[in-house]
Amino acid sequence: MRLEQERIHPVLYWNNPNIHPLLEYKSRLDAMQEYARREHLPLIVSGEYGLRPFTKAVSKDPDSRCDYCYAVRLRAAAAHAREHGFDGFSTTLMISPYQDLDQIVRLAEEAAEESGVPFVRYDFQPFFRAGQEKVRGMNLYMQKYCGCVYSEEERYERKKSRLPQGFDPNFEVPAKKERARISKKLQNPDSAG
Ligand code: SF4
Repeated sequence: MRLEQERIHPVLYWNNPNIHPLLEYKSRLDAMQEYARREHLPLIVSGEYGLRPFTKAVSKDPDSRCDYCYAVRLRAAAAHAREHGFDGFSTTLMISPYQDLDQIVRLAEEAAEESGVPFVRYDFQPFFRAGQEKVRGMNLYMQKYCGCVYSEEERYERKKSRLPQGFDPNFEVPAKKERARISKKLQNPDSAG
């Protein structure tokens, strides 16, 4: 809405070789297509599922993988913008408080120089929560981790690190009925059962 008020007419561009595994890639792409359809926005889907090239490129140093990940997508967007005569390009990465914005801007400026298409540095971050609420309201799929297979692992590592001290992460979770019984017992230790 605000973009339109500023006379910017966005064309959505999808190129995400960093999203794994395949079903996650499909879920996010489906959500993107549905969003574009409902909002009447044009969407260009470029590239394919890219587990192998992505992991091959970052496997030597997975902890520094985000630079490659940002660069490869920004360069693809900039190249597409050049080939199809767009006035500029930007990235939805700019909305996330979890991303390294300085690094994204640096790599986007490099992609802009390479392609000759200006990078539109738009501060989307103030709209992060509102964006999440909107997607929830539209009942669209929402991602649970950043995208790559490494971030999927970190999601579970983080969950493990939040477990109480001494908790065995390999502990087998009891069935629902048993969990309900334990929970009742904890709330009321004198009860039978
Ligand atoms: S954590 Fe996110 S930004 Fe970093 S490499 Fe993985 S998908 Fe890309």
